[in-house]
Amino acid sequence: MKEFWSKRARDLVPYTPGEQPRQRNWIKLNTNENPYPPSQKALAAIRAAAGETLRLYPDPECTSLREALAATFDLKPAQVFVGNGSDEVLALCFQAFFDPERTILFPDVTYSFYPVFADLYGLSYREVPLDERFGLPLESFVGDNGGVVIANPNAPTGRAVSLCDIRTLLEGNPESVVIVDEAYVDFGAQSAVPLIDSYPNLVVVQTMSKSRALAGLRVGFALGNENLIAALNSVKNSFNSYTLDRLALAGAEGALRDGDYLRAITMKISSTRDWAADRLKRMGFEVSDSAANFLFISHPDIPAKVLLDGLRERGILVRWWDKPRISNYLRITVGTDQEMEALCQALTQMIEGA
Ligand code: PMP
Repeated sequence: MKEFWSKRARDLVPYTPGEQPRQRNWIKLNTNENPYPPSQKALAAIRAAAGETLRLYPDPECTSLREALAATFDLKPAQVFVGNGSDEVLALCFQAFFDPERTILFPDVTYSFYPVFADLYGLSYREVPLDERFGLPLESFVGDNGGVVIANPNAPTGRAVSLCDIRTLLEGNPESVVIVDEAYVDFGAQSAVPLIDSYPNLVVVQTMSKSRALAGLRVGFALGNENLIAALNSVKNSFNSYTLDRLALAGAEGALRDGDYLRAITMKISSTRDWAADRLKRMGFEVSDSAANFLFISHPDIPAKVLLDGLRERGILVRWWDKPRISNYLRITVGTDQEMEALCQALTQMIEGA
């Protein structure tokens, strides 16, 4: 059936997104969405933009949003690139910064889209194993390579590295670009943004999908040296000149005007995460130190797949991967207090029934 497919399309092993069920009655802890609504300022801006001007194309340069992001992060607009979700921004980064003849490095385990992008663009890559506690072996990321991609905090483990470690990566790889994917940084890790003016090889990628509760709007962005941002613009303009639509541009700008709300919901989620982590440890789970809005857990006696299915029967969706290193772990998005209470009760039932 694939006879009309290009060779590249035939060879692809695409990324599998987490389930988005059509019914709404699940406790949905499977795709790291924010359990709280977006900022009212974002919603008001989207409503205001939903009018007559939708007949016009949006600003291809996303100038106003880039200016707002630059002001938020104390950078220049020329140091900011925006895209349709950070997945798209990352895809463009892989095209803009990496060459097929030099091997790029990322950890094993990390966000499973990185190898997919590398395969899509015909780039060679090496997956460097994390240590036994899922820590990043820094020394293995320094030396001759064509680029480094890490998520900080990492996914799906939630573990974060320090700014000092990021500096080591940047200084150890002066000839290649280091991408730091900060999708979850607002939940408790240190951002590398303050290093941008000192390191011409640093690109920081962030998203509005997680801490700003706007996964449905698809807004991501990259921050870095002007020269790197120019490369991203060049690739983007060879692909899709209008990345963000008018509603997304307006909503994202509205969200940036509500820093108080961002702080309130990220603090709430981090405190829910910390009590849930404690409770799960007391129930016998191994819980990795998470600086993100999810927990990565395993039980010494009950296989993760059994827990996944049991939770599903009880109306709770979480994430599991059938991959060697992590097949006995579940990744659980931090929801509201009530959702985490329901999760703990469901797991207790399963442990007691085992
Ligand atoms: N990076 C990481 C580490 C992620 O987990 C995700 C979410 N799946 C993304 C990037 C992409 O997020 P988005 O495209 O919604 O911005």
